[in-house]
Amino acid sequence: MTIDISKCKRCGRAVVPPRDICPYCGPGAGETIHLAVAGEGKVASYTVSYMPPEGFNSPLLLVLVELSEGGMVLCLGDTEDTSHVRIGGAASVYVDREGRYRYTPQASEGHRPE
Ligand SMILES: [Zn+2]
Repeated sequence: MTIDISKCKRCGRAVVPPRDICPYCGPGAGETIHLAVAGEGKVASYTVSYMPPEGFNSPLLLVLVELSEGGMVLCLGDTEDTSHVRIGGAASVYVDREGRYRYTPQASEGHRPE
């Protein structure tokens, strides 16, 4: 499973979701290239919200993942067990059926609850 990112030809920064204009360089600065990557990286930060926005169950785990290729992705996590989540820990990102970025610890195989 892959996720799509864009990478700026000028500054080399990666952005998720992909964009045609680099947000760091601005319009007219050059092109971006779109890539499909494995979605592997590490946990940059995370939080557990006990008063999430309407439409989300409590507690809500939000994980900020830094991809190996660069770029940060804010992901929804599974809150059944948050003890495995730690800053710097391995992370894997995938897109669920509703198009949302989801976090899963890289270590566990056979993840991706449907
Ligand atoms: Zn750029």
